[in-house]
Amino acid sequence: MKLIAFAILFLSLNPIFSQNNDITQSLYDTYEKYKEPSLNKRRIKHKQVLGLIEKFKNKNGFIVKKVGESIEGRSLNLVSIGTGETNVFLWSQMHGDEPTATQAIFDIFNFLDSEDFTEQKQAILNNCTLHFLPMLNPDGAEVYQRRNKLGIDINRDALRLQSPEGRTLKRVRDSLDADFGFNLHDQSTYYNAERTEKPATISYLAPAYNYEKDINDVRANAMKVIVFMNDIIQKYAPGQVGRYNDDFEPRAFGDNIQKWGTSAILIESGGYPNDVEKQEIRKLNYVSILSAIYTIANGSYQDIDIKRYDDIPENDRKLFDLKISNATLPLLGKNYIIDVAANRLEVDKDKHNDFWYSSRILEVGDLSTYYGYESFDATGYTIIPGKIYPETQKTIESVQNLDLQFLLKSGYTYVKIGTIDKQKLSSPFPVHLISENYKLPDFKIEIGANPTFLLQKNNAIEYAIINGFLIDLDNFKTAKLLKNAMIYR
Ligand SMILES: [Zn+2]
Repeated sequence: MKLIAFAILFLSLNPIFSQNNDITQSLYDTYEKYKEPSLNKRRIKHKQVLGLIEKFKNKNGFIVKKVGESIEGRSLNLVSIGTGETNVFLWSQMHGDEPTATQAIFDIFNFLDSEDFTEQKQAILNNCTLHFLPMLNPDGAEVYQRRNKLGIDINRDALRLQSPEGRTLKRVRDSLDADFGFNLHDQSTYYNAERTEKPATISYLAPAYNYEKDINDVRANAMKVIVFMNDIIQKYAPGQVGRYNDDFEPRAFGDNIQKWGTSAILIESGGYPNDVEKQEIRKLNYVSILSAIYTIANGSYQDIDIKRYDDIPENDRKLFDLKISNATLPLLGKNYIIDVAANRLEVDKDKHNDFWYSSRILEVGDLSTYYGYESFDATGYTIIPGKIYPETQKTIESVQNLDLQFLLKSGYTYVKIGTIDKQKLSSPFPVHLISENYKLPDFKIEIGANPTFLLQKNNAIEYAIINGFLIDLDNFKTAKLLKNAMIYR
């Protein structure tokens, strides 16, 4: 409690923080009013983005300009607003499967287009001109992949400039000679803040512009704005910020943009517990980026001590979706104590609008230095393999008539199906579905295997792990049961 009181005292005495604190809290509290409702999951497409941009063509104050095309001919558009001297350039999704900030940009448009916060908006638009280039890699977004149609990472194309997307980014940066550049990405959800179980919900980097990692005014300004945004995220997601290693990467855009004289700020949206579609992180993007723009507009960031940049914990990658600790594993007549970690890997459906999970065991052994979004201490529990239910069901639908809680408690994790619809990719039940001819491989807890087993104590099966999801068999009704098991043909 004392620490919290101290933190509040510190924040209220800190002039930079309190000056901007009010607007940040109001932005957070009123977010739902501006959230763009047509974007609500990660797999968004250029068509949706274009439809929204069209809307802003006729809005007062907004200028929309087509500035380029992707390899497959999808338009790249720059949306500008404001009349101020300071040019702030923000671009998102140069990696096609990193859409969180793209969504936040449209929330920011709705905010700027509203009648509210007039005083603060005037301060922003009189002092700054904002330029947004949402979804720089629309071809990648179409198939939800990192790379562009050429199969290259646009973020390693800042020197060779072979991708039309990279060339557009460079040309726009040069034509604006922007003062600030926000390079908006998503990172793996498995990053954590160093030596803590907290996910790196947001990670930052003020990229270096040379191997010596020198700090000139351009880079220092980026660091100051990052310190400012870190204070904001710490308020809403305490401990959930990481700082990227600042080794110089000569081919990357962030590093070069810093070198070309624009204060480059890399923002990576990571993971947040129970936020699969990253909508909470989108909100944090909205709040922190808008607040950062406000501090740039009123100049208050200039007083921030850059030494505080190094206080942000470093990014680490020690998180898993599920970590089972201290389980007993019988092997050739002896018992061993092991931890098991698994990730729920996404497999895209045909049109890349949706996905299903095909989970994998990623690590086995002493995992005491690792963390899980979901953790379970299995001390006293023995790992046992699941069995095939002896009665074949006619169709997938008929599984509905089975008492699945009873089945799992009896050790059955696989149900045979007479006819499996070809269209079906995953089991809608918390049991795997198998065809009559499918031969179950020998049970092994090993890297790469699907995490499916049971936890037994005193001869009673109390927990099932199915496709990387932990199910409490005594609280079956409240368990997350949808979309979580496999079909094996
Ligand atoms: Zn990225």
